[in-house]
Amino acid sequence: MHILVTNDDGVFAAGLLALVQEMRKLGEVTVLAPDRNWSASGHVKTLNRPLRAKPVTLSDGTPALASDGAPSDCVALALMGVVEKPIDLVVSGINPNANIGHDVTYSGTVTAAMEAAIAGVQAIAVSLDAPEYHSGILNYSTAAIAARKIAETLQEHELQPNTLLNVNVPYLTEDEIKGYRVTRQGMRIYRDELIRREDPRGKPYYWIGGEAPTGVPESGTDFGDLAAGYVSITPIQLDLTAYHLLEEIGRWNWSRG
Ligand code: MN
Repeated sequence: MHILVTNDDGVFAAGLLALVQEMRKLGEVTVLAPDRNWSASGHVKTLNRPLRAKPVTLSDGTPALASDGAPSDCVALALMGVVEKPIDLVVSGINPNANIGHDVTYSGTVTAAMEAAIAGVQAIAVSLDAPEYHSGILNYSTAAIAARKIAETLQEHELQPNTLLNVNVPYLTEDEIKGYRVTRQGMRIYRDELIRREDPRGKPYYWIGGEAPTGVPESGTDFGDLAAGYVSITPIQLDLTAYHLLEEIGRWNWSRG
């Protein structure tokens, strides 16, 4: 199996290295990741400037490619030929913070995996639910092992086209993990606050601040089961159609005048 590893935190992030080392147990690993942090950049396709992919070396000696493109650009570049050998699986992460509920539309980690799904390649996004005010080095080993186990399952079962897995792992040891649960997206509660200040020339500027988001801890959801100590595996689809509205709003009068 040939696995592409990418992320949205930058090619030298500790979470990527932990993922690379664990995925190598399953096959050949190629790394093509952004050269800087693109967290919360959403799904990007860079069309108005050239993209570069330059060779770099990770701290354990692993050769990698670093691109000035977004996470989803990195996946597109790799799948369209920058990486010559065909890729069987794309794994994106390990993001240090959870990507649950509506986060998936903001997340560079998840949208990198979405890019793979669009291209018809199996894809997993992996995020660690690190404590909010954690300082110092994070331990990614539990999340890396979870990612490897989930990738092993994907060798037995293939996801349908245009779908991917969004995986979130509690910040616990292997022994403390309660198990693996397939979940649906839960409800995130964002606590964004608009900070308005003035620059030295008296012009206003804005900063989106506020507390980190929380969520509704409902069982069966990504947020709820993650909070309860389970590895959360949410199947995501790229079709965002609100099917439950088709019939109702199909009866509304749309052709006025
Ligand atoms: Mn990130």
